[in-house]
Amino acid sequence: MPHVGFDILLRRASLTKHGAFVFTSNVDGHFQKARFPPARVAECHGTIHQLQCVEACTDEVWSAADVNPVVNEKTCLLKNELPRCPRCGALARPNILMFGDWNWVDKYAERQELALAAWLESVEKPVVVELGAGRAIPTIRRFSERQRCPVIRINPRDYSISPAVGVGIAGGALETLQQLDNTLSEVT
Ligand SMILES: [Zn+2]
Repeated sequence: MPHVGFDILLRRASLTKHGAFVFTSNVDGHFQKARFPPARVAECHGTIHQLQCVEACTDEVWSAADVNPVVNEKTCLLKNELPRCPRCGALARPNILMFGDWNWVDKYAERQELALAAWLESVEKPVVVELGAGRAIPTIRRFSERQRCPVIRINPRDYSISPAVGVGIAGGALETLQQLDNTLSEVT
C-alpha cells in the first residue's frame, strides 16, 4: 500500500492553484492508488497495470486487471494460462520499459507526457519535489533539472544539487515529507 507520504503530497498539492502533476519512473501505480487523478500522472517507464503484445504487433495497450496468476508454490511455475495479445495471439507482457527493450510500446507513456507538458505550460511558478530519484538511471533527475524552476531534491544519499537549481535534503521520502509537512503546519 502507498505510504502516508503520498497523502501528504496530495493534500499539499490541493492547497495550490494548479495542484500537482506526477512524473514517475515507478511502474507500480501507487500514485493512482493514493488517489492522484490518473490524468495527472506520467509514468516514463510504463506501468505494470497495462499489458502489451510481446511482438509489439500493435501500439495498443490494455488493462492487466483480468490477469490473476496462480503459482505452484513448490515449483514456482505458473498454473494457469499466460495472457495473450487479442490481436495476433502472441504472449502479452507488462507495458514496462526494461533494459535493452526495443519492443516497449511507448504510446501510453507518450500521451501522459504530452498532458504533462500542456499542464506545465499552464503553471506560472512550478516547483519540482523530487523524491528518491537515483543517479544510476537519471531520467527523473534530468527531468527535474530541465524544468528551469526550483527543485527540492529529497534523497538519502544522492541529494546534492547545484544551488542555482535548487536545494538538496538528505533523507528518505516519507520521513522528510512528514518533517516538511509538520514544519509548514507550524508556520502557516
Ligand atoms: Zn500481437
